Amino acid sequence: MTGTAMLEITDLTHAFGGGHPALGDISLTVGEGELVSIVGPSGCGKSTLLRCVAGLIRPTGGSVVLHGAPVDAVPDGLAVVFQDYSRSLFPWLSVRDNVALPLRRTQPSRAQRRATALDSLGTVGLTGTAQKYPWQLSGGMQQRVAIARALACDPVLLLMDEPFGSVDAQTREDLEDLILAVRRDRQMTILMVTHDIDESVYVSDRVIVLTPGPARVRAELRIDLPAPRDQIATKELPAFVRLRTEVSRLVRGQPGDAGGPGSAGGTDRSEPGDDSRDRNRSRAARASQE
Ligand code: ADP
Ligand code: MG
Repeated sequence: MTGTAMLEITDLTHAFGGGHPALGDISLTVGEGELVSIVGPSGCGKSTLLRCVAGLIRPTGGSVVLHGAPVDAVPDGLAVVFQDYSRSLFPWLSVRDNVALPLRRTQPSRAQRRATALDSLGTVGLTGTAQKYPWQLSGGMQQRVAIARALACDPVLLLMDEPFGSVDAQTREDLEDLILAVRRDRQMTILMVTHDIDESVYVSDRVIVLTPGPARVRAELRIDLPAPRDQIATKELPAFVRLRTEVSRLVRGQPGDAGGPGSAGGTDRSEPGDDSRDRNRSRAARASQE
């Protein structure tokens, strides 16, 4: 952890109406200035967890504390980037006005809001697109606009839910590097959900692996790869390959290598029997489909 814990999630549980449990019992912390990724099988509860942190869902149990204050509504100083940029930008507003819109609450002056929006668009490399409309831009550029909008309010905590899931591979790498640059320049704290294991290892200080739903923390891995990270050089490192293999194994429910010779340095939080329970569950799921 880079600094003191800014986000503390303790014994968090959530069941949607009708009792469907989405979160088991989740405890984790994110330190000031840290970039933490959450990975886990599809449907395990990653988005639900992020929505609880954002104050968009009131959890059934446990607590989310941001900077010492319980989160029970959308907190100030928090911004969220979702996967689906096409639904999160308003097509009738220019790029600049999309970015400026959420500032209405904090910046009364229209000129000031527009200046902040232009500054934020510059940060994501979109100077010159301010007068355009979102639909005139590529998918990757639209997602940059969504990131610019999140950055414009200068959040202390940036939450991202599969933010690069809808763009092509090359654009995805560019956006990963953009996030690393923004994080370095603004010393921001970021909690990101991704299903891309390479991405989680490449961008993070720490990766948290969740179990199949209802989600619990299966393992935490510290990612001690050197900075600055580079899409080619970093991914060639034996340490990168070892870490991505370990995360991949953990996501698939196979025991991690934590603590063993050549270990990638993870902390496996599985309780004895977790893996056999998971195997039994998937056997039962397969049987019910047959
Ligand atoms: P992930 O993001 O890991 O794919 P989600 O957090 O979206 O998973 O969903 C976790 C579980 O909760 C899934 O079984 C999903 O069907 C269920 N779920 C998500 N949102 C709702 C909702 N609004 N009402 C009922 N069930 C939901
Ligand atoms: Mg999701």
